Amino acid sequence: MLRLALLATFCCLASAALTDSGCTNLGGACQDWRYYKCTAGYETGLCSGDSNRRCCLPCDLSCRTTDSNYDDSACENIDGTCMDNSNYCTGSYSSGYCGGPSDRQCCSANSGGGGIIGGGGSCDLVTYSSLNIKGYNNLKVEVHSGFVADMDTLNSYARQCDVTVWVTHAFREEGQNLGGTVVPPATTSNHLVGHAIDFNLDTPNGWCNGDCLYAGYNSNAECFIQKVLNTSGLRWGGYWSPSDPVHIDDGLNAYHYNEWEALYYDLQGNCVN
Ligand SMILES: [Zn+2]
Repeated sequence: MLRLALLATFCCLASAALTDSGCTNLGGACQDWRYYKCTAGYETGLCSGDSNRRCCLPCDLSCRTTDSNYDDSACENIDGTCMDNSNYCTGSYSSGYCGGPSDRQCCSANSGGGGIIGGGGSCDLVTYSSLNIKGYNNLKVEVHSGFVADMDTLNSYARQCDVTVWVTHAFREEGQNLGGTVVPPATTSNHLVGHAIDFNLDTPNGWCNGDCLYAGYNSNAECFIQKVLNTSGLRWGGYWSPSDPVHIDDGLNAYHYNEWEALYYDLQGNCVN
């Protein structure tokens, strides 16, 4: 089937990535240390840009599992957050309140200031579920309230094409490590603001994964993809370079960057523990 759709791509990678190799070679990610807790800790001098861009060292599965198993109750009792003390802290660090190694310390506010993450605002994410859109492996499909109308549109396309959309990723916390993602998360990904989903389709012609979606031989899947392509305000990642056929978003990062950025700080600040 011919797909003479736009090949224009607004994808993805910030130019800053070019000079972050000292960090990325270590498997780390350069990010603004004021806004993200980095479980494994930050390293300075490895990232381009101003001094607030620091290298968040990689946190593998054992790092994350270990981190969530520590007894941090003493710190939580004083409304603090336990983290590696190379992280940004608006109050100050105290030792003796957190489990784990000695540089894992309790950041708590001294005089009324908030902790690093949480900010005191509310989290504007919605857990979406509908007849034809479901979370794969019991995934809670979290999207921003401003993307719900698009999800409803996708749900009606799915119904018309007789497919079920199984969502594998929706809203994503910065720095979250993903197994099996087709393309590495771009710096300004719409997943980070809850305006994107990754998915596979269950169809009367069988399961349709990324290869199947790209190839276009499954008539139900093709029905669904064509409807998305014909909808202004929705983008399918199949024609991007590199191709990302399991991805749909509304292009917020490309068309309304300021809005994307404000939402990014809002959601990553208020929705991430
Ligand atoms: Zn995606």
